[in-house]
Amino acid sequence: MSVRRISENDVHNITSGQVITDLSNIVKELIENAIDANSNSINITFKRFGLEGIEIQDNGDGISIDDFENLCKKNFTSKLENFENLINVKTLGFRGEALNSICNISQIVITTATSKDAPKGWELNFNKDGELIDKKLINHSKGTLIKVTDLFKNLPVRKLNLEKNYKKEFQKCLQLLTSYLLILTNIRIIIYNIDISGKKKIMMKTTNNSLIKDNIINIFGSTGLQGLEDVKYDLNLDDSYTVSLNGLLSDSSIGNGRLSKDRQFLFINKRPIEFKKIIKLINSIYKKFNYLQYPMILLNFEIHEHLLDINVTPDKKTVLLSNKYENILLGKLETFLENFWDKAGTYNIPVNEN
Ligand code: ADP
Ligand code: MG
Repeated sequence: MSVRRISENDVHNITSGQVITDLSNIVKELIENAIDANSNSINITFKRFGLEGIEIQDNGDGISIDDFENLCKKNFTSKLENFENLINVKTLGFRGEALNSICNISQIVITTATSKDAPKGWELNFNKDGELIDKKLINHSKGTLIKVTDLFKNLPVRKLNLEKNYKKEFQKCLQLLTSYLLILTNIRIIIYNIDISGKKKIMMKTTNNSLIKDNIINIFGSTGLQGLEDVKYDLNLDDSYTVSLNGLLSDSSIGNGRLSKDRQFLFINKRPIEFKKIIKLINSIYKKFNYLQYPMILLNFEIHEHLLDINVTPDKKTVLLSNKYENILLGKLETFLENFWDKAGTYNIPVNEN
């Protein structure tokens, strides 16, 4: 076969499959859109653990009529004008791919109202390519409701994967959502699940707290703060760049850590991220002091945008730090953590008595 360009349609199918690889990607994109829209109340409802779809409702800016046509088209975004801007993005989304990809792999209905339109709003229907196919006027309070059903209707392997592993996929979604619920303050977020019998249950919620500590209590209960210490420290990388470290870590007394790594959350500039090297480093240092447990980690790194590339993977979870600075950062962090845990009374290495 000769070398040919694949059709637009096939390109579309391939790239949508990259942005949206599982249920948790959809959830991530939708909650980020709701946050970007300046919402201070978000409800996310899983229908039968996500098997029958999800709904996300926010009270944010809403979408104006002028944007309906382009809303779900590929690479249409209100958040990024050019590539230079990418360095300075403050919003969680910026590529205009999510809604388009979700249209491609499922059925989506959007209801929305801006403060100008409310209590009137619009219900919008889109086809597989993200084209607006129908709009009707309805009653709706300010904000946006997005309903996603028929997940992975055209991707049989992923659909089967979700059906077979739905409990695991649901747990993955809750774990991901936990990171947003923890870091976001002054916002009310409720996560529901509707089970097979139709019962709607709250899985997790935060209650418009101004402090992260109150988010922790909301999510993990009143014992959630036990053994946690505040972290507030500047890591000076060089004359030009400082990384501010903020958050909470378990102290190193045995009993105050956890038996598994279930509560370890990293953020860069308040974006939940995966940074395996940092997690590994933190766990290995903690082990020197508390050899039985793992620390709870909730750490936000404020890092200058110039040192970051958040556009590495379609899901934006991986962040790249320039090589030189990554090593400096890891080194400074190591020194900080050694000092942080190396305090009288919390040193737990068994001592040979004689
Ligand atoms: P991106 O977030 O990268 O811009 P998306 O496909 O996620 O791309 O969203 C496309 C556009 O749709 C956004 O730029 C935004 O203008 C609008 N949008 C999406 N979700 C919401 C929402 N919940 N509230 C208001 N506007 C939204
Ligand atoms: Mg987005």
